Amino acid sequence: MQPLKNEPSAAALANAALIAACPYKANGETTLRCAKCERPLLVKDAVRTPTGYVCPYFVKARVSSFYNAGIQHYLIAGAIALVGGVVAGVGLRLISSIPFVSIIITLAAGPAAGTALGDLIGRAIKPARGQYIWLLASVMVVLGAAYFAILPALSGLLGGSLNALWGLIPVVGVVVLVGALIRRLRL
Ligand SMILES: [Zn+2]
Repeated sequence: MQPLKNEPSAAALANAALIAACPYKANGETTLRCAKCERPLLVKDAVRTPTGYVCPYFVKARVSSFYNAGIQHYLIAGAIALVGGVVAGVGLRLISSIPFVSIIITLAAGPAAGTALGDLIGRAIKPARGQYIWLLASVMVVLGAAYFAILPALSGLLGGSLNALWGLIPVVGVVVLVGALIRRLRL
């Protein structure tokens, strides 16, 4: 056995484990080989990546190691988004009571708040990344904002009053906020 020159990194060890575990088996003749596990690879199974053609197993392995968020990261992201949603709902409700310029302020503040909230969530769970963090965060923001920004508009609409149209301004705010949040969190 050769002496090791360097300690293998954790990433290299994980890679070696992945390579040993790769279940891919070409059921036919081929000259192509997987750039990761070096097993013979059928053209129909080959997936092109920046580092060469790889077998389907390594595409999945890469995706799952890229999205490494655990349940605790989802809980943190969900909690921050819920609190952010409540704050945004109260804020949007207050803004909507400003005469004349409320829609302008809403359209400016909504996206800014969404981006800021996305940054906050991203930083809180760093360096983890989750494939569905954006979805969870959006749902929690809407839930948080619902009582202050969405329910009043709905009850106004059901009551059929003309003022209900003004009540929709906070709803517009929630929509543009969530749009910005998704753009910030989707990877
Ligand atoms: Zn492979």
